[in-house]
Parts: sequence; C-alpha cells; structure tokens
Amino acid sequence: MLSKTPQFDALLDVILEKLVPHMKECRQRDISQYCEGSFAIEADDIDFYKMLRVPPPTLCPTCRHQRRLAFSNYSHIYKRKCDVSGHREMMISAVAPVMPWITYDYDTYYSDVWDPRDYARDALPNDSFFSQFLELEKVVPQPGVRRGADSPNSDYSFYGKHMKDCYYVFGGRRNEDIMYGSSIYDCTHVVDAYYIRHIDVGYEHVGTHQMSKCFHAYFSSNCVECDFVYDCRNCQNCFGCANLRNKNYCWFNEQLSKEEYQKRRKEIDLGSQATKLEYQKKFWNFVRSQPVCATRVLQSVDVTGNDVRSSKNCHHVTQVEDGQNLKYCHFAIAGMVNSYDMGFGGKAENIYDCQNTGTSSMNVRFSFAVKETTESDYLISCSNCTHCFGCIGLKNASYMIFNKQYTEEEYFKKVDEIKSAMLAREEYGEFFPMSFSCYAYNSSLAQFLFPMEKSEVLAQTLYFQDETDVDLSNLQILNPNDLPDAIEDFTEEMCSKAIIGEDSGKPYRITTRELEFYKRYKIALPLDTPLERTKRRFALLNNFRIEKDHCASCGKEIDSAYRSSDGWRPYCESCYQIEIL
Ligand SMILES: [Zn+2]
Ligand SMILES: [Zn+2]
Repeated sequence: MLSKTPQFDALLDVILEKLVPHMKECRQRDISQYCEGSFAIEADDIDFYKMLRVPPPTLCPTCRHQRRLAFSNYSHIYKRKCDVSGHREMMISAVAPVMPWITYDYDTYYSDVWDPRDYARDALPNDSFFSQFLELEKVVPQPGVRRGADSPNSDYSFYGKHMKDCYYVFGGRRNEDIMYGSSIYDCTHVVDAYYIRHIDVGYEHVGTHQMSKCFHAYFSSNCVECDFVYDCRNCQNCFGCANLRNKNYCWFNEQLSKEEYQKRRKEIDLGSQATKLEYQKKFWNFVRSQPVCATRVLQSVDVTGNDVRSSKNCHHVTQVEDGQNLKYCHFAIAGMVNSYDMGFGGKAENIYDCQNTGTSSMNVRFSFAVKETTESDYLISCSNCTHCFGCIGLKNASYMIFNKQYTEEEYFKKVDEIKSAMLAREEYGEFFPMSFSCYAYNSSLAQFLFPMEKSEVLAQTLYFQDETDVDLSNLQILNPNDLPDAIEDFTEEMCSKAIIGEDSGKPYRITTRELEFYKRYKIALPLDTPLERTKRRFALLNNFRIEKDHCASCGKEIDSAYRSSDGWRPYCESCYQIEIL
C-alpha cells in the first residue's frame, strides 16, 4: 500500500530499522526524583513501535506513567467561576480555580451553543507543535465536569456514564446509589470504594468483584455477608479473614460452627465507633500477620502485573480485565488489545501513550479523553473522530488539524509535513507535557503516586492548587471527640455541622443520604474527609507499583505489589498455592 505520509515514513524507517534491544537513559533522569534512570527497549517493544509507527520513547515507563496521570483527576472537586460569557455562577468543577483554561459548566459544554471549529487555526510545521497546541488549548473551552449521558441526580460525578443517584463518584458505568468512589462498574448501594465491579450493598471496598452485603472488603470476590475480608473468594458469613477460599462461618480464619459464628457476630455492633475501630485494628494486624499473594493474577496466561483477570500476554500492567498484548497499561478493563502505555480506558485497540481513552477507539496515539475515535494523534476531549491531528473538543470530525477542516488529500500532505518536522525535533512520539493538563498537579492522580511539594511542582512549571480555606467561623464544628459513639445517636441535624477529620484536621460533612446508609447497615461514621479516605484506598494498592522483592517462603525473586520492607510477607504464586490454600 502506498504511504499517505511518505516523507514521515521514510524518516521513521531510518530510526526503526536500526533499532535493536538496548538500555536507554531517560531524558528526565536529572529532573524527576521518581525516574528509573535507564530503561530497557526490548524486542517486543520494537515490534510494537513498528506496528504503531512511532519512534521509541525517550522517557522511562515510570516517567511516562506520571506524565499521563497528571491528566486524570479522580479525587478533587472545586467551586470555580464558569467562563461562559454572561455566566456569573460558581460551578462544580474538577478543573481547579488556579488553572488558566477557559472552563464551561456541564450543561453548556455538552450543548451546541459553542463550536470547537470556531477556534480553527493554521498549522506551521516548522514551529514547535507543542507551543502551537498550547495556544489552541488556551482558547478552546474545557469541561468543568466530564460526564457521559444518562446520569440523573449525579451532578457531583465525573467521567462515568449511566450513573443514577451517584455522589462524588469518579469513573464507572451503570451504577446506582453510590457515594464516594472511583472506577465503579455495575454496582448498587455502595459507599467508599475503589475499583469494584458487580457489588450490591457494600461499604469500604477495594478491588472487589461480585459481592453482596459485604463491609470492609479488599481484593475479594464472590462473597456474601462478610465483614473484614482480604483476598477471600467464594466465602459466606466470614469475619476478619484473609486468604480463604470456599468457606463459611470463619472467624479470623478459624472455622466455627454456624451457631457459634452467629452468636459471636451478634455480639458485635459495628455501628459503635469504638467497636468498629477495635475490629479495624484487629483486622489489619491480622492481615499483616498473614502471607499475601505477591500479585493477584486470575485466569490469565503469560502475565506480569497485579489485579489482572482473564488476560493474555500482558506485562507491567495493573487492574486489567479481558486484556491482550498489553504493556505498561494501568486500569484497562472491558477488552483492551495490542496497546502500550494506556491509563484508565477500555474496549480499544492499538492505543499508545494515551490517558482516559477507549470506547471502540483504534490506532490512537498521544491523546487524552478520547472515545470512538480512530487513526488520530494528539487529541484532547474528542469523540467519534477519524484522521484528526492536534485537535481539542471535536465531535464527529475527520481530516482536521488544529480544529481546522482539510480535504483528505490536503490533510495527509499537511500531516506528513508536521510529523516529519516533529520527528526531526524529537517532538513526535511524546505525550503532552504535564503542564498541558487541565488539572492542577496536586489534584491529579499523579500526586497520589508521585507526590511533590508545592515548590517542586512550581519548579517544574506545573500548576498547584492551594487548599481553599473553608471559613469555619459560621459553621458549627464537631470534633471527633464530640461524635456520639452509636450511629443511632448521630441525628440528621448534625449533618449540617462540620466534622474535623481526625488525621487531616480538615472539615467534612455527612450527607443525610449517607447517614441513612450508615444507620441502615449499622456502620459507625467515617472519621476523616472523603479525600483522606480515597488516599488510604490508593495506598492499599501500593499506588499501582510492582517492584522486585523476595518470596517470604522460598526466597526466590518475585514481582510484588507488597514490600517486605513495609512488614508484608509476599509469597510467590506456587508457595501461596501450596502453603496457604
Ligand atoms: Zn524517567
Ligand atoms: Zn515462594
């Protein structure tokens, strides 16, 4: 087939043809404290770069991960002035007030009253692509809230679609009545959760799947009516357990009779703050005393990573389901195929170095928040596009560069010039710089995994949102000590007061709907802000990091999501199978 970008292809072939497996220095090694320094370009990587027609990366996998994560905000909501002309309201926005981008309220952004094509401009191939893109980004409106269709009564929810009655939920599909969570799929009646699928009635869940009426559940699946379970599967009526399979009536891993279990369970009221704290502590001490499976990989072939299910040939990945031929992908569910360096997406093919990209997309590179899109590079917030390059905010478009329409023939000619010049300047092949994110560094996921002080953030010319001090002078304050021990004694009237987080020292409130949930299921109140709770859940995932460690049983070197140096006892898969199960 004749190349439509012959000049670029010839230049790229020169680079790719002489490429052999080697170690490479990361360009950021002296800039970032998290940089790996040097990294390997392996034979299968080279095959992938040839297939996707890209040069090899100049950043190590960790620096690339950090750069993409700076584009995802899964935790922070602000009040920000709406930039629609004539609007004066303060709106709900994931874009922090400090950010310079033109930001529209949800209703206006997803309406036809503005047209991204109005911002069209010429592309100058010999000038820096990124500088030109930044000029475009400064004027095209961004959404304060990203949310798909059909989400009634879910104004405070982001990214997801088909969300009903959801509050402070970041990402997911087909949910109803969820409060404070992220990456939630097909769930109902859940509070405080991350990365859960098919949960009905749950509180404080991380990495769970197919569970019903379970409270305080971590990395477990197919359980019913359990409290405090860690890596348990197919269990019913278990309390304070870890690493169990197909059990009933276990109490801190001890088998009880049904009668004895019911008697003990009845004596415990988790609606009492003191009791909840006591068992929380006991549970985590117990979990820490037990071996853990170093990485959880289920029904998969040829996989290195953690929390992977039904996948094949995936390496250096976390939270992947139905994936095939993936590398350096984090949170890719619903069938991601032949892709590298992708975060928070799904159902897509041939994707390279993208964030929040999926929903039937194919052959997309270096893009953020893109869906139903094919054959495109460097897009932000675009849907249903094909053959677009360097565009923002487009819907149903093709053959566009910097939001300007071209004929098919003109498009390829122009793209060939741009990509060739970019390749010569070593621009082509790089995701957007972190400073192009619409989110402040410290409101993005990058801050959870790769935390930086304000001075460091500013030194890298990134944005930092100072905490907006809540004026407490007019608010009635409840200190943790003022809270009633029993959940029944926390009155609806107390919902109007600010509680001071026990560790964060920051104020938060309990909504009446939340209170109703805690009372119905007899759960004592959370003692810190939703943000603090989110941070703790991410910490339980070792912040997506897989590192080299040693099996606590046989001593062999393993990839582990758990650090021996933090007191965990990670087991390799065979020791876990033999000794634990
Ligand atoms: Zn690096
Ligand atoms: Zn072992």
